[in-house]
Amino acid sequence: MPETSVRKTYQEKLKPTPAQERALEAVLWRCRTLYNVALEQRITWWRRGHGVSATRFQQEAELKAIREAFPEYAAIHSHVLQDVLARLDKTYQAFFRRLASGERKAGFPRYQGRNRYHSFTYKEYGNGARLDNGALVLAKIGRVAVRWSRPVEGTIKTVTLSHEADGWYVSLSCAEVPVHLLPPTGQETGIDVGLVHFLTRADGGTVANPRHYRKAERELKKAQQRVSRRKKGSKRRKKAVKLLAKQHQHVRRQRTDFHHKTALALVRQYDTISYEAIQPANLSRRPEPRPDGNGGYEHNGASRKAGLNKSIQDAGWGSFLSILAYKAACAGKRVEAINPAYTSQDCSGCGARIQKSLSVRTHICTNCGLVMDRDENAARNIQWRGQRLRGVPAMAGALNREPMGL
Ligand SMILES: [Zn+2]
Repeated sequence: MPETSVRKTYQEKLKPTPAQERALEAVLWRCRTLYNVALEQRITWWRRGHGVSATRFQQEAELKAIREAFPEYAAIHSHVLQDVLARLDKTYQAFFRRLASGERKAGFPRYQGRNRYHSFTYKEYGNGARLDNGALVLAKIGRVAVRWSRPVEGTIKTVTLSHEADGWYVSLSCAEVPVHLLPPTGQETGIDVGLVHFLTRADGGTVANPRHYRKAERELKKAQQRVSRRKKGSKRRKKAVKLLAKQHQHVRRQRTDFHHKTALALVRQYDTISYEAIQPANLSRRPEPRPDGNGGYEHNGASRKAGLNKSIQDAGWGSFLSILAYKAACAGKRVEAINPAYTSQDCSGCGARIQKSLSVRTHICTNCGLVMDRDENAARNIQWRGQRLRGVPAMAGALNREPMGL
């Protein structure tokens, strides 16, 4: 049964007046200060041995006193301040989870500098933030004009204001957004994620790897150098920082756009799409240094792997798969995560396991004679596994050579 509604976030650009912009910046500034002060308090508690027991609710209880003592905090909606503490709590919980699972670098929550804290949230629509005749009405700030690009559907739950490189945006997180089903096509496929191509389908079709980041990398590097050349605190440096942020934003947008288009094309064409359940974080982890027994280190292929890591990050698999899953849910199609073991080793024609290293690009089966591009062979195996998960009976070996419809 396809879902009938989904959650969705709409982001639209705001057109604040200069006075409103200053007001938004002031709220952001105070939220960041509160975050850092609350973090300091947690660190103190931690040192005194309170550990995990220091909770967000203890800190929330203190908000009232803060608001009484500091009128600038009284001027901020209480939900916005509560959300700041909730965010800190979230990063803390994640930190404790990483500690508990024994990760080498647990990464203690850190203080948020000016360039790292970008947004604040009204956690309940209608309470401090609401829409009125196409404008965003914020308590104590006023009516802010919105540059709408599409209609908002569903029920608005939260409102987040964010300061991006090119201005202020509002994000409306909506529940119960009705889905617009796409007509079934009777086709299904498996997709193999790779470094040679962004993805390979079971019918052998490929989507090329976008090298947005690589192309933009030189530009980013130039912008970065410009920042470091200029004197700290100078006007010119601030300008350079702004330019750098804009370029990062550009790269991000290009990538997201590519993901959306690729995902949409897949859900239009196929009713079911199977993919390997890969943890991108594991894929891109740096190789361990390998001691050579003489106090030094053997060459472990780190620099080559670093290039590989880059490509994987480039491809941004995790974010693509979540966009794909989301688009499929919206369209009434399905995605199937399958076990990735041996998808590129097994023969999609007869099932024999043909061991090959990562550099071998062609699958040659010594059992049934099937010769096929490595990634296409994997994509077929991924499709078969997706079908097996749903109880579609396996076919006699040779018949498996052509992917079948539903
Ligand atoms: Zn074979």
